[in-house]
Amino acid sequence: MSNLPSEPEFEQAYSELVSTLENSSLFEKNPDFRKALEVASIPERIIQFRVVWEDDKGNAQVNRGYRVQFNSALGPYKGGLRFHPTVNLSVLKFLGFEQIFKNALTGLNMGGGKGGADFDPKGKTDNEIRKFCVAFMRQLANHIGADTDVPAGDIGVSGREIGWLFGAYRSVRNRWEGVLTGKGLTWGGSLIRPEATGYGLVYYVEHMINYASGGSEGFAGKRVAISGSGNVAQYAALKAIELGATVLSLSDSKGALIAEDGGSITPELVAEIAALKVKRGALADLALASDSKLKYVPGVRPWTAVGPVDVALPCATQNEVSGEEAEALVAAGAKFVAEGSNMGSTLEAIKVFENSRKEKKGEAIWYGPGKAANAGGVAVSGLEMAQNSARLNWTSEEVDEKLKGIMKACFLNCLETAKEYVTPAEGELPSLVAGANIAGFKKVAQAM
Ligand code: GLU
Repeated sequence: MSNLPSEPEFEQAYSELVSTLENSSLFEKNPDFRKALEVASIPERIIQFRVVWEDDKGNAQVNRGYRVQFNSALGPYKGGLRFHPTVNLSVLKFLGFEQIFKNALTGLNMGGGKGGADFDPKGKTDNEIRKFCVAFMRQLANHIGADTDVPAGDIGVSGREIGWLFGAYRSVRNRWEGVLTGKGLTWGGSLIRPEATGYGLVYYVEHMINYASGGSEGFAGKRVAISGSGNVAQYAALKAIELGATVLSLSDSKGALIAEDGGSITPELVAEIAALKVKRGALADLALASDSKLKYVPGVRPWTAVGPVDVALPCATQNEVSGEEAEALVAAGAKFVAEGSNMGSTLEAIKVFENSRKEKKGEAIWYGPGKAANAGGVAVSGLEMAQNSARLNWTSEEVDEKLKGIMKACFLNCLETAKEYVTPAEGELPSLVAGANIAGFKKVAQAM
């Protein structure tokens, strides 16, 4: 799988996928797929480069930049760019590997890739971030293209950064093409792209709740814990509230905002947090009224701080639910966990969820892994590519309808594949993690 001394994040993502493939009838039915797995575990190409840029004081600064072009069997490499100090090759290989199968699950023709830099936007001025984006794209521009590799945003890269990167691409290559997604509406972006990951997550979970309740329930009346406060968390919260749920938490890397005494996160508060985030503020900076039914708890994630919940949506970053936190969610009565983040749950947490599904039947937690549940973001990126190629724009209703259709098909694909390859016991809900991994891998292996 790797010849490097240690790639913990990539090894985790690989083991997570392979353990479910091994525990199914997939290889028995398709012996050739073993070789496909071995081949697919090595990126087709990795581009590594240095990014030299000038800070506001006129000093030269340097960072590491990367693009992992993991698999192009299904289409051009597709996946976000992450700017965060924790970025290294192991993290980008894990993200790129997940992205291959996630993109396959959208049903669109996209291969998998991921990139980024160990640049920390925190504490930088807007001007410095812009200069970094231009310097980054100067190195990357010759390796990407609308039919080659189409990056988008991820942590630390939002619409504004995509704008600076896109401008730099046009100037370096002297071409206008849909080379990046998540663009602004006036220069080739798609309606609903900013909302897509959060909305798609809620659509996916709505299908989970509906299936598990025999068609009688949805988000209405559910208590929902959400982590994170970025784009994914914000739109997941807004869509859950719109569907009648009560959202009980949001968080950032420093602490969590928890609703108590019948309080809840409101759309107005989400708007306030969105404005705060643009200014790179922290949740601790929110001025909560003295009679507010929200409290800020420093140093915790929502899972142990929130009261009884029905649904938990990790929307912050990888490994944000530990084994103990998964146990806390079981104890808090959660029935549905689905990831807006990539690899939000540790292997230990997944084990807790999957064992609960097997042992407790009706009382179980049903777990929807990120590569299926958060596929809405990249799905609408695929729709943005289609609109760019066709030189037209769809309305938000059209894009939202297509997103709903993709998330429904993705859910049904995970469900049916799990039933086919890992026959569930009587009364047991099918494993969506097995279904997602097998369905995603199968499509890629066949194409390879
Ligand atoms: N970064 C997002 C993801 O993890 C979106 C990628 C894209 O739109 O290409 O799926």
